[in-house]
Amino acid sequence: MDIHDTWQAALNEIELSITRANFVTWFKNSFPVKKENGTVVIACHNGFTKEWLEKRYHKIILKALRDIDEDVKSVEYIIHPAARKQEHRIAHKPAVIVEPDIAPLDLGGITVDRDTNLNARYTFDSFIVGSHNELAHAAARAISENPGIKYNPLFIYGGVGLGKTHLMHAIGNDIKARFGQKKRIKYVTSEQFSEDLVEAIRKQKMNEFKRTFRAIDVLLIDDVQFFAAKDKLQEELFHTFNDLHTKNKQIVFSSDRPPKAIPSIEDRLRSRFEGGMIADISMPDLATRIAILKAKLLQKQASLDEKTLEVIAFAVQKNIRELEGALNRILTYAAIKGRDPSPKEVETILSELTHPNAKTVTAKTILKTIVEFYDISEDGIMKQSRAKELVKPRQVLMYLLREVLKLSYPAIGGKLGGRDHTTVIHACEKIGEQLEYDMQLSQEINAIKEKIYYAA
Ligand code: ADP
Ligand code: MG
Repeated sequence: MDIHDTWQAALNEIELSITRANFVTWFKNSFPVKKENGTVVIACHNGFTKEWLEKRYHKIILKALRDIDEDVKSVEYIIHPAARKQEHRIAHKPAVIVEPDIAPLDLGGITVDRDTNLNARYTFDSFIVGSHNELAHAAARAISENPGIKYNPLFIYGGVGLGKTHLMHAIGNDIKARFGQKKRIKYVTSEQFSEDLVEAIRKQKMNEFKRTFRAIDVLLIDDVQFFAAKDKLQEELFHTFNDLHTKNKQIVFSSDRPPKAIPSIEDRLRSRFEGGMIADISMPDLATRIAILKAKLLQKQASLDEKTLEVIAFAVQKNIRELEGALNRILTYAAIKGRDPSPKEVETILSELTHPNAKTVTAKTILKTIVEFYDISEDGIMKQSRAKELVKPRQVLMYLLREVLKLSYPAIGGKLGGRDHTTVIHACEKIGEQLEYDMQLSQEINAIKEKIYYAA
């Protein structure tokens, strides 16, 4: 393997252990320059990125490289002007780069349209439909055929890595293919919407901001659970929404939970979210997971035997992004060995992967994540209060301390201000039983777990 293949394989690995946003921000423009005497040199497009890679991601990077190539002893980071030219691209197959004066990399990476922010890779064609996403998919299709008429707004919710973003881009790409220039389409994450707004306020360009967003025919806003409480932001979103909605312009929102479970959202906005069609995406069943793996293989023009696919689909159940990551990992392994791995090898590879950050999760991470998720105070959850809005989060906390950290019941009681271990047992059992039938709770706990693992 040359250094570019090694780096690519390492990126596949890294992508799994950090959030998508961080991955894109810190890794999309970086590429390997050379490997010499066991030292890999990585080029970054500015000092800021270099610093982050050095300070925050060095360990992950080194480990990922070493997992693939044992000869790697250290990693160095340099600032390299060529890295700047890769904006809006994630290089999938970097060109051979040796000397400073380098052509921009144009290597079949993922291209994002600057105008609409749509990613051409996410289409209906590449979206596998199963019972877990049937409703959301049908609504998305209906909207694409007749934007603004049928379901407006469409609110899609579901756990991390289950296809919400994919579906939103698919709607945008399909409308673009059908209507061309006739429909102005814009995809934004809630963060981008906030950043644009803050920027507009700072530069005193609110009129322009309003004009831009209110001239849109199809507005897709991803991850609205991140809209912070009592914000100028929510107000602006509310007015943008009303303006577009009155004009029969299509609006699509996504979130990791239903509107009623987003604590930081104002009621008037919540009622707008709920005013159209709400569709959830749940976890795909085994057959669907296998179908997804097959579709990804086809895209990559690779193949693996049926048994191997089953083992992968069996091991990774709750997150399609991880499912893809697992597939990449197995394919890398196969490429290094020059043969398909045995089922046993597949299992070993996958067991290392299920939760790459599991070792660094602490009780504090779990507590912080839960407090944030339910928008309650740390103090409240630790105290004896029987208030209903605290009881459930507290039980979830006990349950996750047990499940994720495998702490003993008395140890958990101790961490929660000296509660009796029987209280802890009761809480863990109650949540465990409820999970059997309560989809909503199961999605909440999954969302929390994802956050725990990715925050660590
Ligand atoms: P979310 O936004 O819900 O966190 P994404 O839309 O980013 O999830 O999906 C994560 C990954 O899984 C993406 O690479 C996406 O293409 C893939 N994926 C999700 N659902 C499907 C599906 N039904 N068919 C094919 N690929 C899927
Ligand atoms: Mg998403």
